[in-house]
Amino acid sequence: MTWPMIIPATTVQRVADVQAQLALERSGHDVIAAWQTQRLTELVLWLLDNVPWWQAWLGPRVNLDRWDSLPILTRLDLRKMVATYGAARVPDHHGAVSAYCMAGPPGGAARFFTSAFNQRMIDHAFYADHQRHERNPYATQGCLSDDIPLHEGSHIAVPPSLDNGVGPQLLRQLNLFTRLQHVQWLQGTQLTYLTTTPQCMGEVLDEARTRHLHLPEIRQILTYGTQVSTPLRDKARQQLGASMRHRYTCLECGPLAFQCPRSDDYFHVAVGNVMLEVVDDEGRVRPPSLDADTAPTGRVLVTALHQYATPMLRHDIGDTAALHSQCPGCDLQILTLSQLRQGA
Ligand SMILES: [Zn+2]
Repeated sequence: MTWPMIIPATTVQRVADVQAQLALERSGHDVIAAWQTQRLTELVLWLLDNVPWWQAWLGPRVNLDRWDSLPILTRLDLRKMVATYGAARVPDHHGAVSAYCMAGPPGGAARFFTSAFNQRMIDHAFYADHQRHERNPYATQGCLSDDIPLHEGSHIAVPPSLDNGVGPQLLRQLNLFTRLQHVQWLQGTQLTYLTTTPQCMGEVLDEARTRHLHLPEIRQILTYGTQVSTPLRDKARQQLGASMRHRYTCLECGPLAFQCPRSDDYFHVAVGNVMLEVVDDEGRVRPPSLDADTAPTGRVLVTALHQYATPMLRHDIGDTAALHSQCPGCDLQILTLSQLRQGA
């Protein structure tokens, strides 16, 4: 690890971004709405001036006060735009634009673009979640995923990084090993946190239980992908002593909502990264519910606030959820999701 003899700009930027994310989500509806409106206004004005296909998509009369009159963008619409036009022009401060391919939900591989600035905002929104869930980012973290590059040996050992603000990381490619080998790996490592999908976690726990193998304690399991079932949370508590903390994400624009630190059932919207709406089958906006028990579900529309290279406004990502005006789990005044169904 390189010692910081002079102030490293990326480290300071991360600290500042994380504090700003956490401050924003605690600032109440009015401040959050005003901040998001500024971001949306900048984004729409940029698209109208610089991105001809978005100018055509939005039409000649964009009224930001009537946001719900903007067209809903399906996954197919988005794919067509990217396939036809590629990356959109981005403001100078966004830096370099790079392409991402994703194995993708139904329909095969899809491509999209991200800018350095957008990626920084995504990375730092995820980093802020460590503080929200009282995780020690310097403790040993494991990651078991099919996104990890192929490697020799049992994992890729990444040393502590000042730039990323994390301790040692053990990255293991999911498909290189059998479930039993994953169980043995967990037995031989001292992980404080493990990031993986709910499906993978379930399979590894079942393998250990079937073979009567004891697993060492892990403090938290961080999940992404499909939602976490209650039986899986119970298994993780019994076999690992771990609580599961889910992050609701979308490959094209990063975090959408983070599990409430006090409840397994509610997800705080990632207001520093996205604006979310919930609409009924006719596309009408369902206002956030004041009642924790009777909130109706609808389709989730995502507007990515910093995603200029592949813009997505009112993007229907194929999930359903109910929207609450404040979190019923911890009473924080922030838009909150429940009854999440991904790929519905
Ligand atoms: Zn909460």
